[in-house]
Parts: sequence; structure tokens; C-alpha cells
Amino acid sequence: MGSITLQKVEKWFGELQVIKGVDLDIGDGEFVIFVGPSGCGKSTLLRLISGLEEASRGTILIDGEDVTAKLPSERKLSMVFQSYALYPHMSVRENMGFGLKTAGAPRAEIERKVNEAAGILKLEDYLDRKPKALSGGQRQRVAIGRAITREPAGFLFDEPLSNLDAALRVEMRFEIAKLHETLGTTMIYVTHDQVEAMTLADKIVVLDFGVIKQVGTPRQLYEKPDNLFVAQFIGSPK
Ligand code: ADP
Ligand code: MG
Repeated sequence: MGSITLQKVEKWFGELQVIKGVDLDIGDGEFVIFVGPSGCGKSTLLRLISGLEEASRGTILIDGEDVTAKLPSERKLSMVFQSYALYPHMSVRENMGFGLKTAGAPRAEIERKVNEAAGILKLEDYLDRKPKALSGGQRQRVAIGRAITREPAGFLFDEPLSNLDAALRVEMRFEIAKLHETLGTTMIYVTHDQVEAMTLADKIVVLDFGVIKQVGTPRQLYEKPDNLFVAQFIGSPK
């Protein structure tokens, strides 16, 4: 569960082509990072995978099934944004269980899954608080917790830590690495932070102007960049 394949995926916004013939294979359980300069198409590519944007051309497969024409809710993926998008009037518990509740899950099951996610994310003592009574890091944990309770085949993160201060960012980076180790679920993670990319990724996808410049392990990109763009972006001497 959790393999994702893109075949010749293109996205146009009017006259502007933002994603240009992207082919990509993501294996079950892989931690894949999309990096590249601002505006290169990272968020758009993630939104195409999640179904929040519709591909203009090409095919998207999840676990071998063609989901190109499917709704986000039919794709078994959970998205975590940089703005936490928590409901301010709901408690942490309600926020984390909301997706399950709208999906019609029984109360006991919601409670069990919320408690489980709270345990993983060290939120047990905060379940009855409202988001405004939480720190930035805690809010981001709740957003991740909400994704976990849905038990997705894959997590999609769009710069989840960019609103946090530097120290917290480092802490949360470890948390996310641990989460991946614990759950073993496929994760796609967008960042423009090279350090985040190099430390978290099994595989890095380097994008520029909607084109994949290289795909490889952090080590491959560092030691054998295919081109000057990758070398400069990853910061290795070539
Ligand atoms: P990144 O996440 O790498 O910074 P984005 O995927 O957000 O880049 O954007 C890629 C390009 O697509 C940018 O030129 C951006 O302005 C454009 N773009 C993104 N979303 C839209 C949209 N809904 N309508 C028109 N242009 C868009
Ligand atoms: Mg973006």
C-alpha cells in the first residue's frame, strides 16, 4: 500500500505550463522530498497527486490504480499544510477526529485512533484544549495527528515546518523522521530547505520550471549531480 506513479503528467494554468511531462515512481513506504526554487511547481505537483488540482494531461496511479479522475477523498492520501488549517472552535480531540467523524466512523473507533495518534505525537495532555491555547509546534502536531487518524496510504506535506522558528523546526524534523520510522507509510514532503531534504529523504526529486532535473538519494545528488542546477541547488562542488 502506498506506491505512487506519475506518467507524463502536465499542468497548465491558462497559457502557463507549470508541470511539464513529469514521470515519477514512488515506492511503498518511501520518504520522497520535492525540492526546487520558489515557483518551480512543487506545491502544484503535490496538489496533482492529492487530487486538489486536476492534471491537464497524463496519468496518476496509486497502488497501481488509475486515480487521475478521482476526488481527493478517493485517493487514500492525507495532506498536511504549512498553515495548520485547524478548526478554532473545536478541541484538539475534535480536530483530530474530524475526518473520521465526517466519514461516519463509530465513536469508539474515533476515540481509539485519536488516542493512538496523540500518543505518537505526545499530545495526550492537550486533547481538550482549543488550537489558540497551543504553541505553533503543537498545532502542527495536531494537523499531523488529524492526518494520522485517517490511516492514509500516503502523507503529503507541503512545507509543514516553514512557519516555525529554527529550533522548533529541527525538533519537528526529528519528529517527522520518527513518525515515518514508526508508521512506515509513504511520505512526500515539499521543502525549499536543503538541510531538511538531505536529512529526511530516501529519495530527492529536484524540480525547476516544472521539470524534474534529477531524482536520487541525497548521497547520489551530492556526489553525482547530473547537472549544474542540481549541483548548485544541493550545494556540492562540481
Ligand atoms: P512552488 O510550490 O514550487 O513554489 P507552485 O506550484 O506554487 O510553486 O507554483 C508554480 C507556478 O504555478 C508558479 O508560477 C505559480 O504562480 C503558478 N500557479 C500556481 N497555482 C496557480 C493557480 N491556481 N493559477 C495560476 N497559476 C498558478
Ligand atoms: Mg509551494
